[in-house]
Order: sequence, then structure tokens, then C-alpha cells
Amino acid sequence: MTHSNTSALVLFSGGQDSATCLAVALTRYGRVETLGFDYGQRHRVELDCRQRFIDSIRTQFPEWGERLGADHMLDASVLKSLGESAMTDDVAIEMTEAGLPSTFVPGRNLLFFTLAGALAYRRGIDVLVGGMCETDYSGYPDCRAATLAAQEQTLQLGLDSMVRIETPLMYVDKAGTWALAAETGGQALVDLITEETHTCYLGDRTQRHEWGYGCGTCPACELRSNGWHRWKADA
Ligand code: ZN
Repeated sequence: MTHSNTSALVLFSGGQDSATCLAVALTRYGRVETLGFDYGQRHRVELDCRQRFIDSIRTQFPEWGERLGADHMLDASVLKSLGESAMTDDVAIEMTEAGLPSTFVPGRNLLFFTLAGALAYRRGIDVLVGGMCETDYSGYPDCRAATLAAQEQTLQLGLDSMVRIETPLMYVDKAGTWALAAETGGQALVDLITEETHTCYLGDRTQRHEWGYGCGTCPACELRSNGWHRWKADA
């Protein structure tokens, strides 16, 4: 298989969605680098998962490993200092008066893509890849296609570059994300995503379900688990 000369920077958190995007990018692009953010997230355990996932890609998928370049980590802890989010503070996960879950971190993806665009500029990378999705998402307005289209234009203007934002999961639901993993890397990739990615907002890795680790009841676990069961029912 030949791959394009295009290079990609995948925003890789260590979660299911961005792990699937990383695999997809490795089938499409000649060079792929990864970027993670430490922003004081309660589920910081995902940062350990991302390293194990990257290591496993290199050993279990050597053809992909050849194209997998540097991994970058950036400090985005300024987000934690904004406070009041269940994603970074010991705040109950519930709906707020604004009609958004308390896990919403205002400006998070806007900041992430700004930093990713700057890093891509430095690294000479053409495409930013993110796992944002507006199909069965939590209603975060910075996950919407319209937001990211506007941000892509902002980055192109502000960096005077043709950097693109690609979101392979934008219109894919969680069942479809499992199916895409199976299509892209077979059972081996599904197993790797199940074992070495992290979704649970509470950072729980003590309970192992067939779809992976998590408390099983937070909104992120519910999405992941429901998607798994719908995918299994359709398969
Ligand atoms: Zn959970």
C-alpha cells in the first residue's frame, strides 16, 4: 500500500475515539505524530494509557510503527486553573443550567487546536486529526463541525499556512467507532483499544468490563458501553 506524503498530527488523549483516529491516520498518512495535553484532568490515568497504546502500536503493528513519529505532550494546566468543571475538579457530573454537562471545560478544544496548529507549524505538519464527534456526543459546542471549520480557517489565516483539521468520527456514533476500529486494524486493534484506552471520567481502572475499564455509570462509560453493545448486536 502506498501512503501520501502528507503528514498528520493526531490529538491523542489516550481515549477510545482518539486512539481510533490514530489508527485511521496511520493507514492514510506517510508520517504521523501524536500530541497529548496535561490539563489536570481527573482521569489523568489516560496519560499512562496513551503511552502504553503508542508502545503497543509499535510492537503489534510494525507497518504502522514505521510511520509513527514523535509523541508530544503539552502542558495545558491553565484550564484547571479556570476551575468549576467536573473534568478537572471534584464537582458532581450533572447537567448545568446552561444545558451542558458539568464536565464541559469551556474553550478546551479551541485551546487544544490552537496549540496543535502551532506545533504543526513548527514540525511542518499538514493535517491536524481529532476525535471530535457530534453524533452521540455530550453537547460540547467545541466538538461541532461548524466550530472546527471556523477554527481551521482561523488557523490558516493566523499561521499563514494551509493546515487542515480532520475529524474522522464527526458523524460516526460510538457503535460505528468500534466498527471502524475493527475495519482498520481487525480484532487486534479492537483488543488493544479495549485494554489500553481510557474513557471513564472518574479515572476508574479497577473494574474491567468487556468494553474496557471504567466505573460503568458515568456518562463517558455509558456512551462507550452502549456503543460496544450496539456494535456487537449489529456484528
Ligand atoms: Zn466511568
